[in-house]
Amino acid sequence: RAKKLGKNQVCYFEDEMQKQFLYRYKVEHELLDAIVKNQFTLHFQPVMSTNDNNSLIGFEALIRWQIDGKLHMPDNFIEIAEDSGAILKIGEWVIENAIYQLSFWQQTNKQLTMAINLSAVQLSDVNLIKTIKSALTKHNVSPNSVEFEITETAFLEGSDTVINMLNTLRVMGCGIALDDFGTGFSSVSHLQNFPISTVKIDKSLLLLSTDKKTRSLIKGLSLMLHSLELNIVAEGIETEDALVLCRELKIHKLQGYLLSRPLNIDNINDKYFN
Ligand code: C2E
Ligand code: MG
Ligand code: MG
Ligand code: MG
Repeated sequence: RAKKLGKNQVCYFEDEMQKQFLYRYKVEHELLDAIVKNQFTLHFQPVMSTNDNNSLIGFEALIRWQIDGKLHMPDNFIEIAEDSGAILKIGEWVIENAIYQLSFWQQTNKQLTMAINLSAVQLSDVNLIKTIKSALTKHNVSPNSVEFEITETAFLEGSDTVINMLNTLRVMGCGIALDDFGTGFSSVSHLQNFPISTVKIDKSLLLLSTDKKTRSLIKGLSLMLHSLELNIVAEGIETEDALVLCRELKIHKLQGYLLSRPLNIDNINDKYFN
C-alpha cells in the first residue's frame, strides 16, 4: 500500500512512526520521575444515587498528570505506564491518595465511598493487597467504603492469581466493579466466574440513550444485572433522557456530566463540604 502512495507518503509514515516512537520514549521516561516531582493529581467525579434528589454517594478517583501547567488525561499515558511497568508505582500512589482523601471527606459523612481504577497489571502485583491494607489502616477507612474498578482485560489471562487477588479483596470487604461493561468482549460468563459486586454500564451506551436499539440494549443489560443481584452503575449521564431511562430501569448509581464533571479537591470541597 505504501508503495502505491509514492515516496512522499512513505516518508510521511516513517516520520509519523518515528514521532510516535519518540513520544512513547519521552513519556515512559518522564512517567518514572512524575511521582517524585509531584506531578500527579487526582480529580474526583461524584457518584450519585438514582433517587429524585440525586444524593451524593461517593466519588471515583481519576488521575491527571500536570506538566508545565498542562493537565494530561489518563487515556494519553496510562497505557504507556502499563507497558513500561511504571503503573505499579503510579497505582500505589493513587490508592494511597484516594484513600487519604476519602478519610478526610468521611469526617463529614462516614457513608461516602471511593471508587479506584486498577490496571490489569496491578492484579498480578504481589504487593497490591499489602498496599491497600496499609492505606486503609493508616487512614482508618473501612474496606466496605472502597470499590476497585477493573476492566475485562484483567480476565483475558483468566489466571488464578487474578481470581485469588479479587477474592482476597472481596473477603476483606472491598467492592469489585467491572468497568466499561457493554463494550469490548463483555462475556457474560465473566459475571459468573469472577467475584464481582458491581457492574458499570459503559458511557458509550448511555451517550446513545435516545437511540431505540441502544435503549433496548441498556434495558436488557439492566434486567440481567438486576437478576444477578449486582449493583449497577451507569456512567456517561449527559442528558435528561439518559437520567430518566436509568430511573425507569432502577439502575442504582449514576455518573455523568449532567450531574457533575470530575472536579479537583478544592472544587469538591466548595461544592459538598462547607
Ligand atoms: P473510566 O474508569 O471508565 O472513567 C470514566 C471516564 O469517563 C473518565 O474519563 C470521566 O471523566 C469520563 N466521564 C465521566 N462522565 C462522563 C460523561 O457524562 N460523558 C463523557 N463523555 N465522559 C464522562 P478520564 O478521567 O479521562 O479517564 C479515562 C480512563 O482512564 C478511565 O475510564 C480509566 O479507565 C482510566 N483511569 C483514570 N484514572 C485512573 C487510575 O488512577 N488508574 C488507572 N489504572 N486507570 C485510570
Ligand atoms: Mg472507572
Ligand atoms: Mg468506565
Ligand atoms: Mg475506561
